[in-house]
Amino acid sequence: MAKGYQANRERQEQIASLGKTLAKRAGFACEWCGGKEELRPWDHRPEREPDESCLALLCRRCRDLADGAPADANELRSLRNALWSDIPAIAEGAGRVLARCKEPWVREAIEESLMDDAMKKELLG
Ligand SMILES: [Zn+2]
Repeated sequence: MAKGYQANRERQEQIASLGKTLAKRAGFACEWCGGKEELRPWDHRPEREPDESCLALLCRRCRDLADGAPADANELRSLRNALWSDIPAIAEGAGRVLARCKEPWVREAIEESLMDDAMKKELLG
């Protein structure tokens, strides 16, 4: 227990230390939708050592979406451009949220993106 707590705290500190770099990269806007509300780092791969490629600066709504909050197709369109990022936390993270929506444009957008084929396959099932 104590060990897990300690590891988690270290991780939070590591993420916090990357926060400035992240905010700069993001241009102080959500890296999925461009929103500005309550921007915080979001952890794409909690099982890995944190680095910039597995973190994205996200607004509150996008963090909710990442946690599985339901979204309508129109709202998801604002995430479409994120698929073109070369940063996994942005492209794959947004891809995972988008893939829950079964509309044809989502499948097309993921297929056209620059993600590798294995990831596309995983997302599109
Ligand atoms: Zn957002």
